[in-house]
Amino acid sequence: MSANTIRKAKKLVESGGVIRIEDDLFQIKSSSDPDKSYFVTGGSCECPGFKNFYKFHHGKGLKANCSHLEAVRLFKLDNNS
Ligand SMILES: [Zn+2]
Repeated sequence: MSANTIRKAKKLVESGGVIRIEDDLFQIKSSSDPDKSYFVTGGSCECPGFKNFYKFHHGKGLKANCSHLEAVRLFKLDNNS
């Protein structure tokens, strides 16, 4: 994961861009478009970056990541859950 992804994720958490809707359902504001948000659940995200990852790296056994998934991870750490 790139340092840029982690930086973006931290910013999302700090700016309150992560909202917990259910136990494993989060709404994350898009960092590029404030009017937009993505839902993250069960380790998958609906943003284009996440989907493209599997398009480009399909079958390589890699796990996709994006700033939204990383933001949820940080959010959970902050909230001890
Ligand atoms: Zn995402």
